[in-house]
Amino acid sequence: MTKAVHKFGGSSLSSAARYQAVANIIIGHCQSGDCIVVSAAGKTTNTLVALWQSYQQQDERAFSDILLQVENHQLQLISELFPAAQQTPLASELRDELSSIARQAQLRQLQEAPLLAFGEIWSARLLAALLNTLNITTQDVDARTLFTQHQGQLMHSLNRSACHQTLAQDKIYVVTGFIAADSEGNTVTLGRNGSDYSATLLASYLDAASVSIWTDTPGVFSTDPRKVGNAIKYSKVCRAQANLLARLGNPVLHAKTLSPLKETAIKLQVRSSFEPDVQGTEVVKQGYSKEKRFVTTFGELDLLRVDTLASGEVGALSQLIQHGIHHFNQNGEDYLLVPSEFTHQVVLRLSGRVTIVESHLRGFAVVAPGPDIAPLVRQAQAVLDEQAVVVRFTHSATEYALFLTDQAIDSDVLAILHDKLVNKGRELAVIIAGLGNVGEVFLNQCQQQIARLQSQFDLKLVALLRSQEMVFCPSGLNVTQWQQQWQSEAQSYSHTELLDRISELDYEHKVVIDITASEAFSQLYPDFAAHDCHLISANKYAGTAAHDWYQALRTQLQERNLLWRYNTSVGAGLPVNFALADLQNSGDKVVRIEGVFSGTLSWLCSSFDGERPFSELVLAAQDMGYTEPDPREDLSGRDMQRKLLILARELGLQLELDDIELEALMPASLAQGSWESFLARKDELDAFYQQRAEAAEAQGKVLRYTGALEIDAAGKVHAKVGIAQVAQGSAIANLTPGDNIFVITTGWYEQNPLVIQGPGAGKEVTAAGIHSDLYWLTQQLR
Ligand code: ADP
Ligand code: ASP
Ligand code: MG
Repeated sequence: MTKAVHKFGGSSLSSAARYQAVANIIIGHCQSGDCIVVSAAGKTTNTLVALWQSYQQQDERAFSDILLQVENHQLQLISELFPAAQQTPLASELRDELSSIARQAQLRQLQEAPLLAFGEIWSARLLAALLNTLNITTQDVDARTLFTQHQGQLMHSLNRSACHQTLAQDKIYVVTGFIAADSEGNTVTLGRNGSDYSATLLASYLDAASVSIWTDTPGVFSTDPRKVGNAIKYSKVCRAQANLLARLGNPVLHAKTLSPLKETAIKLQVRSSFEPDVQGTEVVKQGYSKEKRFVTTFGELDLLRVDTLASGEVGALSQLIQHGIHHFNQNGEDYLLVPSEFTHQVVLRLSGRVTIVESHLRGFAVVAPGPDIAPLVRQAQAVLDEQAVVVRFTHSATEYALFLTDQAIDSDVLAILHDKLVNKGRELAVIIAGLGNVGEVFLNQCQQQIARLQSQFDLKLVALLRSQEMVFCPSGLNVTQWQQQWQSEAQSYSHTELLDRISELDYEHKVVIDITASEAFSQLYPDFAAHDCHLISANKYAGTAAHDWYQALRTQLQERNLLWRYNTSVGAGLPVNFALADLQNSGDKVVRIEGVFSGTLSWLCSSFDGERPFSELVLAAQDMGYTEPDPREDLSGRDMQRKLLILARELGLQLELDDIELEALMPASLAQGSWESFLARKDELDAFYQQRAEAAEAQGKVLRYTGALEIDAAGKVHAKVGIAQVAQGSAIANLTPGDNIFVITTGWYEQNPLVIQGPGAGKEVTAAGIHSDLYWLTQQLR
């Protein structure tokens, strides 16, 4: 059976509640035979390092204080995780181990590696015991029985057979990360953060199918997401870049994590044990992901120049200090970047061959595709100059550049660097569905908008869709030649194919722009969301779908940090949604919205003067392309009913379409049947309209087709779309034929309501409204 290896870092095991969460993940994601690799709980290794330092400094007081701290932490985990009967043996085993540590310290026989190893031993023991109490057959395994090194080199074939022999049964194995043994059986460690390496090693020995590194962030980001709020999570990162980040000391993966995966097809992903359902980052082989941009910071470092480094010497030095050491060559000289706390050890080891060039440096490295490096170096330098950060040393290589500075790069400076160096290179893949009137104009306006947004966002038009055919071009179509490309490349597609192609897109952000009028297409929105697409719709169907479906979509989008805009589904480009959102965000309360939200019905009612029969106007409007192909779609009032529902939902009201009373602008008897039969009976429509228009006139009023929504004092909603008599001279009566009008009464606009009026249909304004949504989206993503 192909196995999976799951590694849980210290951050995933920092409390009893986290152990329980990890157990739940294992229950949900693992099968018998899978292996779990664990690090020391929380910051236990740091505490054990402090314990070791106090031992070396012969500071007995500190030693016993820290030992007590270790004991309390472990006992607390035990008492919170297990019933009383089980606590006793676990606690006594722990106390025996701590007494033996204290005894060895007294005898001055303590050794560093076996001491540090306890962190992982305790984690594995507790997690295995916890899983067993949950009826999952589990065994903890000390990795010193699996991984043997000889003269610093792992003995792969020996280790491989040890793994196959020891981990052969049908149970879950919890293996200690970070530790191994040498050929004499002494403990060695794989370096700080080394459990990631343990996990990939184990996976390679077991020919496992996958390794999941579970940590406290849901993947690999463009920079440390704890320091920069708008760090970008990458869904895919290529192995070479992940490796480089690790070699530059980024903690998300240990420097050697990738090496056992070379030449294997083992999948590696980084995901969050805090959000197990969120898709993480897949670390993929070369060519399976575009190269990305990253900014990674350094802790306190010293820069050392070394005369002639022997091969393997850097590895031996990092083994000595338990820490990765970045090494580079500049102008023929070898340099090492050593964490300041270990410089003394390194200098001693390299005695006579080393010069400390600079000490107590901080700084950062930029990782990016080769051609981007030179311009990024200039931009980084400009930011540092602006922020008065003095650069003491720089080094550029093909795929990264490092800046060593005289002060720490705090979160503010890091955020500015990230904005300037990474966000600028952000790409948004745009998928456009619907190439009708509006779609074409939208595409023609695209060229200019793409150029306008260029300084902040790189918009790539990756797909054009009609109902039957599509052109899909992951690297981006040429916007000026989309028509030719459509002619030569459009192919039929199924929804599954479309979703597959979308899932393969390797972009930070994707947006589906729905300019169709298709209900079936709107039903794909949950699938688009599942593939991490933002949504922009001119299509009204999703916004007016049954409340449960609509709410589930909203929740899904929110959970995945996705945005949805449908400004143009009401009033085309008119800024009604902006006004409503703004009023509510500034504390106002909307109590009534009334108006005419259909350009067609607006034109018909405003053009009627009693001279020409109403049906003649309907046919003229149809001729001019103002109506739906069958104008009864407009006369039914259904379209305005949908728009009123969208407005209601913008106000946070929980309404269904049928909660809005609907009165058609035609006799019910004409609603059914063919268009021809309608034409034959058009007199009935004329009589219907004439009669109502005269009744209105008798009252000194005019006839309009309006929608109105009112929230009464008790909070009850009254909503209706239908024929209304409106006072002559009022804003609604005076409406320019074809225009829309929204009359908004609020707490503040009470006596004299706020009026938004203008063209509410037409391809230019609608396309422009969609561009407004797209612009808004890019601003939110910044
Ligand atoms: P674990 O205990 O699971 O091994 P680490 O603390 O070693 O976790 O590594 C995860 C931490 O790496 C995150 O909490 C995050 O602060 C930090 N980090 C730094 N840079 C990045 C990055 N580019 N992407 C993700 N995490 C990062
Ligand atoms: N516990 C070790 C450390 O803190 C190993 C690891 O976390 O991967 O460095
Ligand atoms: Mg780690």
